[in-house]
Amino acid sequence: MKTVRHILSLSGGKDSTALALFMRDKVKDMEYVFCDTGKELNETYEYLNRVEAYLGKKIIWLNAEAGFDHWIDVFGGYLPGPNSRWCTKLLKLKPFEDYVKDDEIVSYVGIRADEDRVGYISTKPNIKAVFPFKDYGIDYAGVMKILEESGIGLPPYLKWGRTHSGCFFCFFQKQIEWVRLLETYPKMFDEAAAYEKQNDEPGKTFTWNQDMPLCELRKPENIAKIKSRYEQNRVRRMENRPNKRLVEVLAGMTDIEEERPACLICQL
Ligand code: SF4
Repeated sequence: MKTVRHILSLSGGKDSTALALFMRDKVKDMEYVFCDTGKELNETYEYLNRVEAYLGKKIIWLNAEAGFDHWIDVFGGYLPGPNSRWCTKLLKLKPFEDYVKDDEIVSYVGIRADEDRVGYISTKPNIKAVFPFKDYGIDYAGVMKILEESGIGLPPYLKWGRTHSGCFFCFFQKQIEWVRLLETYPKMFDEAAAYEKQNDEPGKTFTWNQDMPLCELRKPENIAKIKSRYEQNRVRRMENRPNKRLVEVLAGMTDIEEERPACLICQL
């Protein structure tokens, strides 16, 4: 009989981390993996090292044979974006699928009981996704409890206002998050900006943010506008959500987080 493998893919985000902690004593032969694009925040790597120590088991780092800088050359400087996510496919999904091969896999996905999203990791028929947080009724508050009680806590980037794990230049960032990246890790912002290309020729301009290239976004007057707009929206959203639960407020749960894009393997 074929052995079924159990795999939990960590992204460096709070939900997949909490799931790993939650499953630690439930599935002994769990394989913990992390698809590393080589462009993640250093603090994500450090966070995962702490998680690994808690799990008492090696997290297997999966790296694509060729990294982001190789593929950006192949694509002639064409940056990935919400409608062309070659990065997720080549740097996250492919290494995962190569790792699992054709084995029968149960893949543990950290979608919470209070989320409506449908999980997607891979379309390979040998990979069956399961959602333990849904089965056990674990919601946002439950995830926070798991992280707190383990001593692992939240991913460090949440403290400076980044809402997602994944590459430091991820195009899913909102403008305010780009500003925070600039203020927290200016060199990474510069590195992200260096990938952008402005060109008069149609179809040859590549920017991370559709509304504003980073060379514009970094200007003090634009930073001021972005911050002011963000603050106004934040206040408005809070006013419209008077019943936000205390645990969400205390944890700094923002509406940006609630509107997460469905990039599960990168950002769960
Ligand atoms: S984190 Fe963002 S940029 Fe990185 S692979 Fe995922 S979608 Fe692409």
